Amino acid sequence: MSYQVLARKWRPQTFEEVIGQKHVSQTLKNAIKQGKIAHAFLFSGERGVGKTSVARILAKALNCHSKPEPTEIPCNTCPSCMEITAGNSMDVLEIDGASNTGVDDVRILRENVRYKPARDRYKVYIIDEVHMLSKAAFNALLKTLEEPPPHTIFMFATTEPEKLPDTIISRCLRFDLKRIATQEIIAHLERLLKEEQIHISKRGLFLIARAAEGSMRDAQSLLDRILAYCPDAVKDADVEELLGRVDRSYLYKITAAIAAEDPEGCLTALNTIYESGFDLRQFYYAYLEHVRDLMVAKVSSGSLAWMDMPEEELKEVVRLAQTVSAEKLQRVFRLWYAAEKEINQSPLPKVALEMCLLEMIHAQQSIPIEEVLQKLDELQQKIAGAPGAHGPVWSSSAKSTAPAGKHEPVKNPAGSEYTAPAEAAEQPTNMVPEGSLGKPDESGFLAFVRQRNLPLASQLEHGTIRLQGDRELLIELTADSFFLETIKDRETGDKIKELCEEFFKKQMKVTVVPVKKAPQLTGSQPKELDRKKKVRDAMHNPLIQKIVETFEGEIVEVKTDI
Ligand SMILES: [Zn+2]
Repeated sequence: MSYQVLARKWRPQTFEEVIGQKHVSQTLKNAIKQGKIAHAFLFSGERGVGKTSVARILAKALNCHSKPEPTEIPCNTCPSCMEITAGNSMDVLEIDGASNTGVDDVRILRENVRYKPARDRYKVYIIDEVHMLSKAAFNALLKTLEEPPPHTIFMFATTEPEKLPDTIISRCLRFDLKRIATQEIIAHLERLLKEEQIHISKRGLFLIARAAEGSMRDAQSLLDRILAYCPDAVKDADVEELLGRVDRSYLYKITAAIAAEDPEGCLTALNTIYESGFDLRQFYYAYLEHVRDLMVAKVSSGSLAWMDMPEEELKEVVRLAQTVSAEKLQRVFRLWYAAEKEINQSPLPKVALEMCLLEMIHAQQSIPIEEVLQKLDELQQKIAGAPGAHGPVWSSSAKSTAPAGKHEPVKNPAGSEYTAPAEAAEQPTNMVPEGSLGKPDESGFLAFVRQRNLPLASQLEHGTIRLQGDRELLIELTADSFFLETIKDRETGDKIKELCEEFFKKQMKVTVVPVKKAPQLTGSQPKELDRKKKVRDAMHNPLIQKIVETFEGEIVEVKTDI
């Protein structure tokens, strides 16, 4: 007997069997019970969450022979139900939108729609990936949807509902299917494995469920692959290997080496990963996620059960997080995050990773700037005697990154040419000015975002921000930028808008513009202007003013990539 893939064998056949979409199943069951049957349904959601399965169950429910009218519990044994399960029903036609995109296909469909069902109550058209239809095809379809024959029902499934014309969407009863929660996938896989009499550890199942990213179909196909790979007994190591997942212990080793400022330990761990044959780019993302986990564990005090990882892994992350300071973690995250492009583009990703790791350790060994300044303060006080003489007084804010009270107010040394601008002198010595105190311009906004949402700021820094009048913020990114899509995303857009409103104290329009070349690299003049602007902005920071003044120096260049 031929092997039937798990996704097919375990495809839900009733509304009760649909996992993770109770909101959809319940609404459909109620509609059937009340006899309120729409002529067009739209099921949207990520791949593998059950869109076509729900459509098929609905088709069965409408055409089942077990009752004189549609039933919310299809029998799955009558000819109609069985034919729909097998995919050969005369009255339930499944059309793949991806391969029937033309207007002619839809025209044929429109011709057919006029005919009554051959045997069952309704003629059902299930069109999968409906967003792939051409514009002309949509127009043709729309005519049918406007006046559908009473015996015809359309069910559309799509992963990209935003590509559908509004005129189509407005004529459908729409259901958005959710990604399936990891725990729900695990529970289903456990049931399935019990029936199949196969054992996989909880951790193995967890890895599969997480890799499936909310798609039941993906989880089941992964399981198929794993069972084919190790037909006798499945070990966790097999699952990890097949998923191409970096062994967590390597990630822990690297973090421990960073915490201990041990460059050799770091490089050895990286080398082991390399020699084990793991994809280093995949390792890069795995480690990024690991640092994020550590940061979350560091700042959270309550239960971390929502962190979506096996219990023993969570314990290890919490333990490890306690060994590294929050500042160190933040620095590691920043450096690692900034290295993405380099690692992805480098023909030698191992070298790029090694350099990044060494930089992390090196950065830790350098003394924090607050400490240097404090030492300078002390030195000045010794030289100049008691504080409180002439010159501007440097105020130290409680919001300073240094512990409160660490900075004693000191006077400006005599003979310095520096005169503090009144506006700047009143600013707190924060590295990043408070939103209300920062200048309401592009750089002030960026500094504000950096303070509120560091990952978002890092993304924005890949492009250029411009104020267009006083109501619009333009974000220019090169058309091939990795971050273009992320920033264009509606959720990110909303976040930017919120931050704008908070910073500029008014509602702003946010427009993301793809540009051909990197906007800052056109010609030497804009580059020079840009340099001057950066220097100007840097001089607004009291901490930097203090350094420039103490060393009687000037700012030559501002590097923002660290
Ligand atoms: Zn039936």
